[in-house]
Order: sequence, then structure tokens, then C-alpha cells
Amino acid sequence: MLENSYHSNHMRTSKYLLATTKETPSDAVVISHQLMLKAGLIRKLASGLYSWMPTGLRVLKKVSRIIQHEMDNAGALEVSMPVVQPAELWHESGRWEQMGSELQRFKDRHERDFCLGPTHEEVITDLVRNEISSYKQLPINLYQIQTKFRDERRPRFGVMRAREFVMKDAYSFHADQASLELTYELMYETYTKIFDRLGFTFRAVEADSGNIGGNRSHEFHVLADSGEDEIVFSSENDYAANMEMASAAAPADNKGASTQDKKLVATPDTSSIEDVCTLLHVRPEQTIKTLIVLGEKSGESAEGQNDQALIALILRGDHHLNEVKATKIPGIQSPLSFADEKQINAVLGCKPGSIGPVDMPEGIRIIADRDAANLADFVCGANQDGHHLTGVNWDKDCKVGEVADLRNVIEGDLSPDGKGKLSIKRGIEVGHIFQLGNKYSQAMGLSVLNENGKSIVPEMGCYGIGVTRIVAAAIEQCHDEKGIIWPDNIAPFHLALIPLNAHKSEQVSQLADKLYRDLTDAGVEVLYDDRDKKTSPGVKFADMELIGIPHRLVISERSLEQDKLEYKHRGDTDSQDIPLEGALDFLTNKILSVNA
Ligand code: ATP
Ligand code: MG
Repeated sequence: MLENSYHSNHMRTSKYLLATTKETPSDAVVISHQLMLKAGLIRKLASGLYSWMPTGLRVLKKVSRIIQHEMDNAGALEVSMPVVQPAELWHESGRWEQMGSELQRFKDRHERDFCLGPTHEEVITDLVRNEISSYKQLPINLYQIQTKFRDERRPRFGVMRAREFVMKDAYSFHADQASLELTYELMYETYTKIFDRLGFTFRAVEADSGNIGGNRSHEFHVLADSGEDEIVFSSENDYAANMEMASAAAPADNKGASTQDKKLVATPDTSSIEDVCTLLHVRPEQTIKTLIVLGEKSGESAEGQNDQALIALILRGDHHLNEVKATKIPGIQSPLSFADEKQINAVLGCKPGSIGPVDMPEGIRIIADRDAANLADFVCGANQDGHHLTGVNWDKDCKVGEVADLRNVIEGDLSPDGKGKLSIKRGIEVGHIFQLGNKYSQAMGLSVLNENGKSIVPEMGCYGIGVTRIVAAAIEQCHDEKGIIWPDNIAPFHLALIPLNAHKSEQVSQLADKLYRDLTDAGVEVLYDDRDKKTSPGVKFADMELIGIPHRLVISERSLEQDKLEYKHRGDTDSQDIPLEGALDFLTNKILSVNA
């Protein structure tokens, strides 16, 4: 089956909006963003808002069609839900209050609250609670490919992180957990098929499932240096997780014995771990840093002041706090918020750079990361501006409090099972699958009757793919200094047909017209560069390479003298001469076999 079944499969550049440009706008920092603008795929309307030009839209539709095809094969049913959603549903789920400014809220002429859908759990749950009443109608998996709006804090990288973007979102409903797990596995396989068909080098990684707890979630990442996310792999087995979720093996309990006594040292003008290390000639691994965060709100005090406890999180100097892990610890405020200088000074009497666990005021809960808790003779802040303590030891000098995994893993950490080492790569998240459990069905009163006539609350799963982001990810993964190199099945056109000096040669122009008709009739999508003599061959070649059309056929008087045509694949360095006789078969075989 051709991907392009209802797309116009031929085009003359003279009647097309090619829209290629030489300039690279200064706000385009990643290569895909630059190339999408230069190749005339998209145009910016405002921050995070893009128009899709004819060439870009052809690619986007092909990506959508591959996704539709695989979702349909997996038995999912396509629906389409409104972009505009009434606030009532979001009140029911509790997300009207929970979501921050990413949720674009507005009022209609009757002063009723609405939002632009950033996702559709509420709407689909409402739909299903009205349509489905029996376990016999389950499981069901409904999907759509549709525009989402999120007022992202930092729209960037073009369509990679836009405010308006296209998502494929699917939602499944189940009578029990076992059924949810089957569909989850099926979606995992379906995503693997989709990303294979898109020609991606990708990895599925374990992801955090938020505050719902206990449920499974995987993200699918395209590997690319420009990716916004860090993903973590084991060298020895298939352990793979995103940075939020990744955990190293617990340190062996091999804390050295204390050999030093604690000593107060002056560390003026040091504000970072590096400064302290340079001054005291110690390695960051031998220091700890203390971060003060806010505990959960526990009501208002008599003066109307917020009675919020402070909590000390302790990490080894070379490690970084993992905010997702910290937020999961009961008692810590979510989203995580750090105490400000004033709050710290009021309680500890020093600036944030000088905090440490020794003589911490009563009432401050101390949580140490596993590796920080495993240190002996370490350096820490002295709770006194411009001073640190050296030779500090847990138990002897300060209480270790609680111990937890609080940190991001680093390159070379042991895998969680202790076998193999962790390595870190960058990825672009193109898909996310998630077991939601009954969070929405419960909150929104969705129930069905089971085989005993008893009312049960269905389990749900949700499955997203960033359709517009995929176009950018494909370019990140495949390009060279000349432009985009599309995988065959999402290329805007299969073949660039370029006659040289057609205005001078009747033979060239007639043959080009004929090949254009024949190729098109055979089902090849041809972009026929029939621009007149004002456009030089060099410009035509450069444009077609920039747009990334996989196959190129050049017709010139010179090669026709030898009954030859010039063929080149976008990925090849040199072109090859092919006999005129049989050229049509040569091309259709080459092109249609991979696009079938
Ligand atoms: P991210 O961590 O990148 O913000 P998310 O966790 O918010 O993603 P989901 O809510 O799971 O994303 O959305 C499903 C998919 O939609 C993502 O995997 C991603 O490919 C895509 N997506 C999310 N936000 C954007 C955006 N601002 N622009 C383009 N695509 C997006
Ligand atoms: Mg997001």
C-alpha cells in the first residue's frame, strides 16, 4: 500500500510553493529547526506556533498515516475530540487546580470556563462513561491524531517543543489490571513497529509514572545529541530508564572508619563546592552539600504565617539532586520548592553556601542520599558564613537521619542489579505509554457492570506520540551539511526530476515531460523541477538536496547522447549513469519496493 494514497503525488516546482531559503534565523539553534525553516517545511507565526508549508505537511501526513496504520492494526479505533474543553471536566479530575500555566484557560461569551486541551484524559473518560456500561464492551482502545495546546514555559527548537502541536493520543479501558497489561504490551510493540518504520534509532526506557504510583510507564526516545532528555543504559543488560527514574546500585556498605576529628576552617569567598575543594585541596567526592527544601504545608499559624517545616537534603558534592525522587518522599512539598535565603538565615543563621548537618537545629528533618551517608571524614558547611568543617563523620559528629536515593545517576555508576555500568545518552522523547490505573475513572465516576452485575471502576492506559515532534526528530537523526536526508517512507517526494537546460533542448524537455507522466502513473511521487533558465542547475540540485528528496534523476543532453540518464540517491556521494532504456523500471523498482 502506498502511503500517499490520497496525496497529490506529483508536482511541478513552477506551480509549487518551494519556499527554500538560504538564511538561518538566529533563534534556530538546533539543526532540525534550521533545516525545517530553510527547506520550507514550516514558518513561525508566533512563539511556539508554526504553519506547515506544503512540503512539511506532506511529511507530517505520511508520519500520521504510518501511525494510523499501526494503531488500526492493533485494533484501536480512531475518534476525534474537540480541542476546546469545558472546565467542569477538569474540576472533576482535580486538574483544573493542579495544572499550572501550561493549561491555557479562557472564558466564552457566557463567562463559562474552558481550556485548550493539552491532553484528553478528561474528555475521553467522559465520553466512555456515557457510552459504555458493560464489561462486555471492554477492553476498548480509542485514539485520535489531533492538535494539542500547552502554554510551555520555554517553547524552543521549532516544532520540537511548540505550544501548539499534533499528538496521537490513545486511551484504553479495561475490566481488570491483567487486561490493561495486555494492551500496554501491545502498545509497546506497536510503538516499536511505528518507530522502526520511521527508520529511527530509538530506545524505550522506564519512566516515572508521576504521583499515581506503582504503575508502569515507558518513554520512547530517538537518540540524538540535541535531545532535551537524558536516558540511562546498562552496559550489561537491558536496563534502560530516563534520568528521572534511573537508579544506581546502592553503595556497598564500605564506609571507611573515621580517622579524623572535625575541625572548623575558614573558607571566605567560596560559594560553590569547586571553590571549597580548590581551597581545601579535597575532591568533590569527599564533600557533602546540603539543600533546604520545604515540607508539605501543615496549615496556617495564628499569625497567618505559613507553618511549613524545612527539610535538609544531603548529597555528595559531585552528585546532583533528582527532584522527582525527592518529591516522592512523603512529607516533602510537591512540586519541590527550595527555601529562600531569608528562610535559611532565619533558621540556620547562615547563607545557603555554608549549610551542613552538624548541629542542625532540632526539628529540621535530615535526609541523606545513600552515597552521602556512606562517607567518612568528609567536608561540609559549618552553618556559619565563610566556614566549613573538615574531618566530619556521621554518628560521631551528626545524625545521619533518614537515608534515601536522592540523586541523578552519573556515567560509570553500577547498574541497579550490580552488574554492568550505567552510561548516559541524550534522547528526544517521541512517545510515552502509561498505565493510568483508575485515577480518572474513579475521580470521574466511570463504572461498568461486571459479569456478576456488580459495578466496577475500569482501569485505564494512555499512549501518546508527538507527531509533529517526530518530523523534527527524523531530521535530527538524518541530515548532512547539504540538508535533510529523509527516510524513504516519510520523504515529501520520492524523486526529484531535474532536466538540465530544457529551454535549449527539445529532446530533454520532451523526455522530462514523458518521464514525469510515466513515473507519476506508476505511483512515484515526483517533484519535477521545471523552473526556467533563470534557475541554474546548481540551485536546483542544492534545493532538492536541502529538501532531502531521496532519489534524483537528471536529464541532460550530454548523457542523452550516450542514451543514459543520471541517477543519484541522496545518501550517495556520486551519481551513476543508467541506461535510458529500462530507466522507468529501474526507478520504480528502487522507489516503490521500499515504499510499498
Ligand atoms: P515532555 O517531557 O517532552 O514535555 P510530556 O511528558 O509532557 O513531554 P506527554 O504528555 O506524554 O509529554 O505527551 C506525549 C508526547 O507528545 C510526548 O512524548 C512528546 O513526543 C509530545 N509532546 C509533548 N509536549 C510537546 C510539545 N510542547 N511540543 C511538541 N511535542 C510535544
Ligand atoms: Mg511536557
